[in-house]
Amino acid sequence: MRQISTLSEWRAATEDIRQSGQRVGVIPTMGALHEGHRSLIQRAIDDGTTPCVTIFVNPRQFNDEVDLHAYPQPLDDDLARCREWGVAYVLTPTIQEMWPSYPQATATTVQVAGVTEEFEGAGRPGHFDGVASVVTKLFVVTGPSTAYFGEKDFQQLAMVRRLVLDMGFDIDIVGCPIVRDDKGLALSSRNARLSPTGRTAALAISRALKWAADRPRTVDEIDHHVRAALIQAGIDVAYVAVVNQETLQTDIVDGSARVLVAGIVEGVRLLDNAPVVIRKDDTTCC
Ligand code: AMP
Repeated sequence: MRQISTLSEWRAATEDIRQSGQRVGVIPTMGALHEGHRSLIQRAIDDGTTPCVTIFVNPRQFNDEVDLHAYPQPLDDDLARCREWGVAYVLTPTIQEMWPSYPQATATTVQVAGVTEEFEGAGRPGHFDGVASVVTKLFVVTGPSTAYFGEKDFQQLAMVRRLVLDMGFDIDIVGCPIVRDDKGLALSSRNARLSPTGRTAALAISRALKWAADRPRTVDEIDHHVRAALIQAGIDVAYVAVVNQETLQTDIVDGSARVLVAGIVEGVRLLDNAPVVIRKDDTTCC
């Protein structure tokens, strides 16, 4: 495995991969790697691409300094994991390497309208502009054939698909299923900040989603049940929404939809979601 920290070396390395007839698979991350990240890497390997991981805690996508500084950065552990998991190349740029004018503002911003406006976009102003800008830059300097993202960040995945469509990037976007711990909690680098009590409370989220997904239900049923379950567990509800899987609009047109949830536990923002089937008939109940 080769660790690279400059964009010029990264361009050269990924060019070599292409020149040798291999496809580049990119897995963008912010590090603190766990089994969720591993599943993306494994999918890239299974697809036959050369797995190239990027590790960069992008300050432009944090609208909260406290959250940025609390973000774990166990680089040595991450590199050991990448080596063990079969990664070929890892990009670990400094902030200045990615954003040369930092800490001054970067003049260029990539903005995807529509899918970014609600949910995480409403709760974290500027967040998706930061993500769209860094993802665009990583695509440009890496030249991947395929890029791997988790369904865990469902709105982010929808945004990246829209970005690729609008910008004409010749990149396949692969969405990978959410990896959970044995109790059901969606893995996240932020889970490390939860106390044992917080972890137990957080389980209410996946439990409620499982309930929502286990048979066709109405939008109102899902909304009421999930909200009530979170509130009962002492979770601060940022949003619960049943959305169209592509547009993320709440006007569901067919039976399959996605429930998006964000809840705050011990100051930690936890995201989760699940596919659901919507039952339009409100007259018979479960
Ligand atoms: P992050 O390092 O949190 O920015 O995540 C990097 C990528 O890993 C994103 O595409 C995430 O959606 C994905 N990811 C994070 N956690 C999980 C998980 N539990 N299951 C699947 N993918 C995940």
